[in-house]
Amino acid sequence: MAANEFADRLKKFRSRFADLKIDAAVVMNRVNTRYLSGFAGSFSILAVDGKRAVLFTDSRYAEAASREAPEGVEVRCQPREKALEYYRDFFAPLKGKRVGHESSITVAELDRLKKYARGAKWTPAESAILKLRAVKSESELKSVRKAAKLADAMMHLAVETARAGMPESELSKAIRRASEDLGGTGESFENIVASGPNSSSPHHTPGKRKLKSGDPVTVDLGGVVEGYCSDLTRTFAIGKASKKFTEIYGVCLEANEAAIAGIRPGMTGKEADALARNAIEKAGFGEYFGHSLGHGVGIEIHEQPRLATTSADILEPGMVITIEPGIYIPGVGGVRIEDLAVVTAKGVAVLSKTPKNLLVV
Ligand code: ZN
Ligand code: ZN
Repeated sequence: MAANEFADRLKKFRSRFADLKIDAAVVMNRVNTRYLSGFAGSFSILAVDGKRAVLFTDSRYAEAASREAPEGVEVRCQPREKALEYYRDFFAPLKGKRVGHESSITVAELDRLKKYARGAKWTPAESAILKLRAVKSESELKSVRKAAKLADAMMHLAVETARAGMPESELSKAIRRASEDLGGTGESFENIVASGPNSSSPHHTPGKRKLKSGDPVTVDLGGVVEGYCSDLTRTFAIGKASKKFTEIYGVCLEANEAAIAGIRPGMTGKEADALARNAIEKAGFGEYFGHSLGHGVGIEIHEQPRLATTSADILEPGMVITIEPGIYIPGVGGVRIEDLAVVTAKGVAVLSKTPKNLLVV
């Protein structure tokens, strides 16, 4: 991570204060505190105003917090029971000021904050951090590329391992193991292995069903590298591909490629979604594409922006997104083709390298 990476994120965060009509912000969601300060401990509160950024944690993390916190972030480690005194020095001057908080905060947490900063005006401001997180820096993209490469290697292993007679759960286990064996720190989400009729359910949980000849098998997987996630889906056939499966595979691939060719920065998530949806509708399968085209990916597997029929999110260069059209026909089976891509100044660059021709194994 570049030395000025966190200073840069804090600066960008502060630069949004005016728009949000806040003077300071208190960040409690672990993913957000980590994003802004680099600190990964399980308890932290990051308080930021125009000048100061203070990371509050407890004594368990004294050493780690001082080591991980970047320049410009003061670290306070004290026993939690002394909380009031411990926060007073930062919070007392916020009397009468407007302070942003995350929308994920609980009522109890907000009540506690109100005690520390009496007279402050609290207002939700999480969207600002989520928007910052959506646009990745060069160093974040480096990690995302590594995670995408890991997903490709995991998929390669899945294709090599899958064979008739193997239960879905066994293939799923092999994929999970690969997420660590191949250089990652685990899966970015629990993988999906959906075979035969199960493939018509987009979120199927791998079970005892054994793969058999003629099955479509959808494998949706991802790994984590340096704290960043990847997401990749392929559907292949065991032994032979039926005519119907071959047909919907072709349509789904066309939709995936139409989106890749057509996405531009400045578009809304709705416009991006339509690129793939129109291709599927035109082929007569519109009613079988029941989910959105994609989502942002980063520290978390689902981030902003959303590529969906209801999304007004604007695509910007540096956003990492999935492009994942699917067609699911109950009783017949399904197909999903998902790539990870980064929005560039001109369009998108696809990070997933796993081939997309219809594979029969
Ligand atoms: Zn996926
Ligand atoms: Zn996805």
